[in-house]
Amino acid sequence: MILCFPMNVAPGMESGGGCGDTRLTAFAEVEMRTTTACIAGILAATFTSRTATGSFDPAFTVAVYNVAQLPRGTLARAEALAAEIFNSAGIDLHWADATVSNQMDLLNDFSMTPATGCTQRLHSESVRVEILSHAPPGFALQALGYALPCAERGVQVTIYADRLEAVSQHTPAAFYRVLGHALAHEIGHVLLRSSTHENGGVMKRVWSRNDWQRAAVTVVPFTTNEARRMLQELRRTQMGHVLAAGNRR
Ligand SMILES: [Zn+2]
Repeated sequence: MILCFPMNVAPGMESGGGCGDTRLTAFAEVEMRTTTACIAGILAATFTSRTATGSFDPAFTVAVYNVAQLPRGTLARAEALAAEIFNSAGIDLHWADATVSNQMDLLNDFSMTPATGCTQRLHSESVRVEILSHAPPGFALQALGYALPCAERGVQVTIYADRLEAVSQHTPAAFYRVLGHALAHEIGHVLLRSSTHENGGVMKRVWSRNDWQRAAVTVVPFTTNEARRMLQELRRTQMGHVLAAGNRR
């Protein structure tokens, strides 16, 4: 993980290594296989047209499981804010509402989250995000959620609405602005293929009150280097799909 305010260690995650956790329960490993097809159906059409032409389109799709049932207007404002942050990095973010047809859809794949970065490249121009009402008991008090940037199954980003609410109550940042920046931060981990953080910008690990004051009135962007890395990752992913499509012809 994590969007960070100011401690940020998810259950089972090492305190010094960012978001890494190499463990995967047997339950999750088995059940994740049953959910992949459900999620793929939502996202499969994203890059079909682009693979036909081979041109690079810096676009990315986010499927959101709004399990917390946040008001549609609030979620839309947060999504627009996150899209603005990515747009400033040269990336077009598109949103899709995902329906939970099976609780197994929301399992987390903890098997592939090395703290130093993913061994596999991004295999899809999409990410799955769940927004849950409450953080589980024992979850680091000031963490807003976490990302599993290397996960190939289940959700890659989890955000807790009660933690967002706590930040919005104690800082000048409105709820939707906290959520928007949390979305950008966690999705950023997926595109950057890493759980590591920077000293500033939206990928900062620990957010002070001053950071939230800034986020309350403007967007906290990615750094130039992060933008370059994300665009590079997207380009490589699309090139992989183009090559795969060509091989099938
Ligand atoms: Zn983080």
